[in-house]
Amino acid sequence: MAQQIVYSVIVFCFGASIGSFLNVVVYRLPRGKSLIWPPSHCPHCQHELSMARDNIPILGWFVVRGKCRYCGEPVPSTSMVQGSSTSGSYASPRTTLQ
Ligand SMILES: [Zn+2]
Repeated sequence: MAQQIVYSVIVFCFGASIGSFLNVVVYRLPRGKSLIWPPSHCPHCQHELSMARDNIPILGWFVVRGKCRYCGEPVPSTSMVQGSSTSGSYASPRTTLQ
């Protein structure tokens, strides 16, 4: 049982990372922007996001309470929803119990 919980957490985190990246793809590709450069930044103030503090999928959105840490402008919840839905689908019981 404990092993399944650890496995589910790992799969959830992996899914959240995939969801976060897909959010970048959905935002940048239609606009003709690079997927690699510039690194993640606030769309309002252009401040680069800290990898350790601001760029953690799902959790980071809750830590900053849905607002940019630097300018206070709202961060779209679509990134959090995309990460949550992808990680949820990865860590669903059907996926983890087999
Ligand atoms: Zn900002």
